[in-house]
Amino acid sequence: MTTQTAAANNVPTVPLLINGEWVESQTTVWRDVVNPATQEVLARVPFATPDEVNAAIASAQRAFKTWRKTPIGARARIFLKLQQLIRENMADLAATLTMEQGKTLLDAEGDVFRGLEVVEHAANIGTLQMGEYAQNVAGGVDTYSVMQPLGVCAGITPFNFPAMIPLWMFPMAIACGNTFVLKPSEQDPLVTEKLVRLALQAGIPAGVLNVIHGGEDVVNALCDHPDIKAISFVGSSKVGTHVYQRASLNGKRAQCMMGAKNHAVVLPDANKEQTLNQLLGAGFGAAGQRCMAASVAVLVGAAREWLPELSAKAQTLTVGAGKDNPDLGPVISCAAKERVFSLVAKGIEQGAVLTLDGRDVKVDGYPNGNFVGPTILSGVKPGMVVYDQEIFGPVLIVVEVDTLDEAIALVNANPNGNGTALFTQSGAAARYFQEEIDVGQVGINVPIPVPVPLFSFTGSRGSKLGDLGPFGKQVVLFYTQTQTITQRWFTDAASVGKVNTTISL
Ligand code: NAD
Repeated sequence: MTTQTAAANNVPTVPLLINGEWVESQTTVWRDVVNPATQEVLARVPFATPDEVNAAIASAQRAFKTWRKTPIGARARIFLKLQQLIRENMADLAATLTMEQGKTLLDAEGDVFRGLEVVEHAANIGTLQMGEYAQNVAGGVDTYSVMQPLGVCAGITPFNFPAMIPLWMFPMAIACGNTFVLKPSEQDPLVTEKLVRLALQAGIPAGVLNVIHGGEDVVNALCDHPDIKAISFVGSSKVGTHVYQRASLNGKRAQCMMGAKNHAVVLPDANKEQTLNQLLGAGFGAAGQRCMAASVAVLVGAAREWLPELSAKAQTLTVGAGKDNPDLGPVISCAAKERVFSLVAKGIEQGAVLTLDGRDVKVDGYPNGNFVGPTILSGVKPGMVVYDQEIFGPVLIVVEVDTLDEAIALVNANPNGNGTALFTQSGAAARYFQEEIDVGQVGINVPIPVPVPLFSFTGSRGSKLGDLGPFGKQVVLFYTQTQTITQRWFTDAASVGKVNTTISL
C-alpha cells in the first residue's frame, strides 16, 4: 500500500461507483493491482475515504425507496439482460480475470460461468419470494405473510473468485428488492468492475448498486454503519469471524463463508485412474487457491500405495502464465508465494516428507511470476502446521489411515467443514460417509462439489458463520424480512354480496 496520489504516474485508476456515477477517489492511499505472472502494474485501486463510503451508502439508501417498489418482473428482466451481456463478453471478462488474478483462461471462464449461473437464477427469483396465506385463522380473520426486502445490503469479496463471488451477492440481493454496496478484493478488482459496468448497462438504476474499494477500514465502516442491514462476506476465517462479530454486534444480519481444509478420502476400491486425475485437478487446479480445493488427500488402507503414481502424475502438470492455459497459473502475489514456501519448509521441519517439490519451478519468458509447481507433502499428521493451516497454494498434503472410520474421525476433528469428497465404488460406504461426515459440501466421486444455484452454498463448523448460505433458496430468506399481516374486514354478510348494486358506474 502506498500514499502517493494515483495521478503521480500513468497507471489507470479504479473508480468508485456512487449513485450511478463512476468517480475518482479523493483518497491518498492507493494499492497496485499487479499481474501475478509478470509483476506488471495494471491499475491502482483506492482505499476509499469515510466520506466516500458514507456517500455510497446514502445513495443506496435513497435508491431503496423506489427500488423496493419496482415490480418483480422489471427487476428480473435486468438479470435476464445481464446474463446475456455476460455471455457476449465472456472472452474479455476471462482475459481480464486471468491478467489480474493469474488463473488459466479456462479457469477464468469457469469463474465467470459459475457466477453467470447465479445471475440466471436471480432472473427467476420471483417464485422464491412469495409469501403464505391462511384463510379463517379465526372466524373472518385471515393471515398472510410477505417477504420484504431489507434495505441496503453490503458484500465483501475475496481475491480467488473475483467474478463468481461478487455475482453470488449483488444479483440476488438486488433481485429481492434491496440496494447494494459492493467491496471487492483490492487484489483483483478489475473484472468485478467490468461486471458491474455490464449490470448498469443491463438497466440497474443509479444508486441501486454501488462499489467502493479499500481494506480493513472500509470493511469496518460497512459493519458499523446503521443503514446497512445485512452483510455477506467471503474470505479468510480470521477476517470473516471479525466481520460476523462486528456486524452482529451492530444488529445486522451476517453470513460469512470462510476458510477451508478439504479432505479427499480415497478408499482402495475407488477407480484408480479417475481418482488420481481428480485429485490432481482438485488439489492443484487454480494453483490450489480455491476454497473448495482438495488440499488433503486421505489414503485409506491399500490406497496408500497409490502415492508414487499420484506424485508421478502431478510432476507432469504444466506451470505457466494463465493466458497460455497451462495446468497451473501463478499464485496471487509475491507474499502468497513466500507464505506457501515458508509453510512447506515448516512442514518438512516438523517431519513431513517432501514427495514432490515444486518450489524451484521456472517458466520460460516469465522470470518474475509468482509460480509454485505442484508440491506434495506426505506423512502429514494433525498438529503439523501444514495440516492445521490453510496453505492456499498448489500443495497437496497426504495423510494415511487404516479405515474409513479413522478417515471420518479425522475430517470431523478438523476445525473446518467446507467441502469433502469420498472416492469409492461402494454405495454403502458412500452412504455411511455422507451420513457421518460433518461438512457442508460432500462429493461422492466428485472432487469439488460446489452446488448449482438451485441449492445454496453452505459450510459447517469453522468454515461458515450465519445460518443462511449465499445464492439458492436460502439467500432469499437472508435478503428478506418476513412480515405477517392478520386482517379482518367487518362486513354485514347480508349486504356485502350486493355491494355492486349500490355502486353507480
Ligand atoms: P481475506 O479474508 O484476506 O479478504 C477477504 C476480504 O476481506 C477482502 O475484500 C479484503 O479486502 C477484506 N479484508 C482483508 N483484511 C481485512 C481486515 N483485517 N479487516 C477487514 N477486512 C479485511 O481473504 P482472501 O485472501 O481474499 O481470500 C482467500 C480466503 O477466502 C481463503 O481463506 C478461502 O478459503 C476463503 N474463501 C472461502 C470461500 C467459501 O465459500 N467458504 C470462497 C472463496 C474463498
